[in-house]
Amino acid sequence: MKPATVWVALGSNLGDRRANLEGACEALRCADGVEVLRVSPWSETRAEGGPSGQPDYLNGCLEARTTLAPHTFLWLLQRLESQFGRDRSREVRNGPRPLDLDLLFYDELELDDPELVLPHPRLEERLFVLEPLCALAPELVLPRSGRRVCERVEELRAARRGTAGLVRCADPEAARRWCEARRAEGARIGFIPTMGALHEGHLSLVRAALAGNDLACASVFVNPLQFDDPRDLARYPRHLDRDAELLESAGCSMLFTGTLAEFFPEHEDGNVPRRDPGPAAEGLEGAFRPGHFAGVATICARLFEVVRPARAYFGEKDFQQCLVVQHLARVLGFPEIVVCPTSREEDGLARSSRNQLLAPAERAQAAALSRALFAARAAWREGERDPARLEALLAAELARARVAVEYAEVRDPERFGQRPRKPLARARALIAARVGRVRLIDNLDLAGTEPGALR
Ligand code: AMP
Repeated sequence: MKPATVWVALGSNLGDRRANLEGACEALRCADGVEVLRVSPWSETRAEGGPSGQPDYLNGCLEARTTLAPHTFLWLLQRLESQFGRDRSREVRNGPRPLDLDLLFYDELELDDPELVLPHPRLEERLFVLEPLCALAPELVLPRSGRRVCERVEELRAARRGTAGLVRCADPEAARRWCEARRAEGARIGFIPTMGALHEGHLSLVRAALAGNDLACASVFVNPLQFDDPRDLARYPRHLDRDAELLESAGCSMLFTGTLAEFFPEHEDGNVPRRDPGPAAEGLEGAFRPGHFAGVATICARLFEVVRPARAYFGEKDFQQCLVVQHLARVLGFPEIVVCPTSREEDGLARSSRNQLLAPAERAQAAALSRALFAARAAWREGERDPARLEALLAAELARARVAVEYAEVRDPERFGQRPRKPLARARALIAARVGRVRLIDNLDLAGTEPGALR
């Protein structure tokens, strides 16, 4: 018999979910007449329908070839479900289960009998099936809607977000109420704290939040507690209406703002006690901007309390800030911190709200920061491991562009607080420099592979 291509959805929300899914894949790999071709990554989803309060699912999808007939293949899947502890005779409808295997497609076969309906009848309405399928076959055309899988995923995500567009909450109290209501409906919120003047880097965080949560929510607050220089605070760009438009077009559901007094009504005089930002705040940014990370930790803790997000999204561009926020989240016990890659301009310059303050000649100079980092990465790739020589490379590139360097250092990310002396096994290069009146920072994992400048 000529092999048929089959697609199978896998789910588990009972017991060791990952072990159940991986066990099922392994059993299929060993089965006669079945060749597993590809398996999607596992993704976490909320249980839909069925009794409330059941555990989250881990879902995935696989593509296989089989010489088994459709009903024989279905029987094999059902046998695997019971081997992993599923007991259909005792099961509540849509109740929790250690293993759920659904046959989505068997070639292009259409079938409608009491035991088996093909393609799977509810496939096109289920985001938890289509998202893993999209990881393997985004261009596959769905027979009922005629949509490609990637298009259908977008449609369902948009429907889940609602059509209300962006809700703007003018103060933290309104934001707290809005978030509370969404959480009561069972929505998981992905949160993006910002200081506004948004750019593609911020929007990449919104997209990451939408991919991992039910909805995204952002704040724009130029936090005075984290500015050590009042002129820097006064100059910081502010474009709230444009920010709202960008957030709306990226699919963000809510934007909130507030004043310092609204965020900390219990300290109306502005004397807000600062949080201890933890050990990662020492050195580098901490040394050049005293009090900065205490201000960051203080506002982030308050923002997290307002939103109570499942996850909060931060950019790797502010590497030390990510370490401080990770420490804060460990102390608070929430949220999960997701660190997203640095978004760069064509010439490699890390996107930053402050870039718009650069005059044209300064903008050209600013490209030296990323040039220096990528020069250090090139040396790392050629085998250079000596921190002093890597730092000399950074310094040489920055000196050529005549930017005023505050620091240009290489650190072992596992021992971030210490200046390394010995050859490194891992390295992150970090730079802060002033170009005219504008202070810029950037950093790079020297062993990483993410792209920088196009040239
Ligand atoms: P800010 O508005 O500068 O406070 O930034 C808000 C968030 O966006 C922080 O988590 C930043 O790390 C992140 N972010 C800023 N610039 C970039 C970028 N170029 N790429 C990725 N994330 C960024």
